[in-house]
Amino acid sequence: MLNRLTIQQAHDGLKKKEFSSVELTRACLKRIKERNKDINAFISVFEKEALDEAKKADELISGKPFGKAQGKQKALTGIPFCVKDAINTKDRRSTGAAKILDNYVPPFDATVIKKIREQGAVLLGKNNCDAFGHGASNENSMYGPVKNPHDLTKVAGGSSGGTAAAVADDMCVFGIGEDTGGSIRQPASFCGVVGLRPSYGRNSRYGIMPMASSLDTVGPITKTVEDCAIVEEIIVGPDELDATTVQNHKSKIINQKSLRVGVPREYFSAIGGPAFGGNGMDGEVKKLIERKIERLKDLKTCPERSRRITIVDVSLPMTKYAIPVYYIIVPSEDSSNLGRLDGIRYGVRAEAENLYDVYAKSRAQGFPEEVKRRIMIGTYALSAGYYDAYYRKAQKVRTLIIQDFNQVFNNVDVLLTPTSPFPAFGIEEKKNDVLAMYLADVFVGAAALAGLPAISVPAGKTKSGLPVGLQIIGPRLKENLVFHTAKLIENYAH
Ligand code: GLN
Repeated sequence: MLNRLTIQQAHDGLKKKEFSSVELTRACLKRIKERNKDINAFISVFEKEALDEAKKADELISGKPFGKAQGKQKALTGIPFCVKDAINTKDRRSTGAAKILDNYVPPFDATVIKKIREQGAVLLGKNNCDAFGHGASNENSMYGPVKNPHDLTKVAGGSSGGTAAAVADDMCVFGIGEDTGGSIRQPASFCGVVGLRPSYGRNSRYGIMPMASSLDTVGPITKTVEDCAIVEEIIVGPDELDATTVQNHKSKIINQKSLRVGVPREYFSAIGGPAFGGNGMDGEVKKLIERKIERLKDLKTCPERSRRITIVDVSLPMTKYAIPVYYIIVPSEDSSNLGRLDGIRYGVRAEAENLYDVYAKSRAQGFPEEVKRRIMIGTYALSAGYYDAYYRKAQKVRTLIIQDFNQVFNNVDVLLTPTSPFPAFGIEEKKNDVLAMYLADVFVGAAALAGLPAISVPAGKTKSGLPVGLQIIGPRLKENLVFHTAKLIENYAH
């Protein structure tokens, strides 16, 4: 059962030589073999390469010489992880879950992956996801949907559904996902694990297949808050290959003097309700989140430091525009970014054996419906005559959403909301209802538009055993506060 370990436990066990990295990696590979045929969380598994990397890690830990690589055990030495397939990995196939890149093998690692591998982690494989991150259920993958490990008839969420499912089902120790408008947090909540969307500009996006460049982020999906902070600490920081990265990036878990937790009332009432085309919040989700809020209230003080906790009712009136704004801005930027995938570059023609093969990997055949839809919506919204009415207007409303958050953060340290209005839904349930699928992002879109850090932590399960996630949103670059609150909920608010 080594595959069940957290990063912290795996690191300690490897250090004390209670087990080897090869044993740990084998345990994960065995779990993948047993479960992946049902869950479909992986597009590629690199068994041989992973075992080679694990062997090297063991040599390093035991101090056996093996050339230049000999050194000290690092934070992630010998710990197996997996990566969303929309993130580039050197010499390892990276498809973005679209057939147009079916045979694409990048010659470089994304910066965050480079940093993780430099810490000695073992790359197990690449995770299924909605193609290029477009979706909230993982049903927009051209490699089939990911099933939820807690109930195989339900979706795992999206778009980083394969990564969340792999972490939840102990097929790996941790994973790396991408979040443009909820793709780390929502699948983390559906699968019952921890997922952080970092502040915009905190982690380098170099090597992430771009979706909407003014929103894209990359972050960890883990079994505990502690693990999430460990990985974030490793991948954070400026990168000359991503001009949006910032210098200020303190992320250690700190203890605040007092903690003022804002609960935005709109998340519990109107948005997501019939006026916006949704069915409102699921009763069981509401109860579980409210229970956590009550428990925080009961705590009154932070246990370790006896500091005051206050719960404050706040309002974010502009949040109701988040979905319409998001679904103008994101397809617009998508349509521009996806222009590079023309069916000619990225290995397609070079590897194609015949003309049919080229056609099969063309834009017509190589993109799923949702990708084509976004290219068309975005091209329309950006075209002459419509740009002012759509893209520019959406950007203006985005500023109002940002101002809304700035205002509440004058009075509270963090915000607490549900991650999703409902637990995992059925496979095929929303697949053909595009607007219902877009509305699944109703609680995760606003923080993304504002570039804020937000984490999803498990908040319990429904009667039928489906996990529910709680979201904590913090001010920009205040990941420390987000982690601090998340830890309180994880450790004490039961
Ligand atoms: N559901 C969102 C969308 O389809 C999530 C995207 C993301 O975060 N990558 O746009």
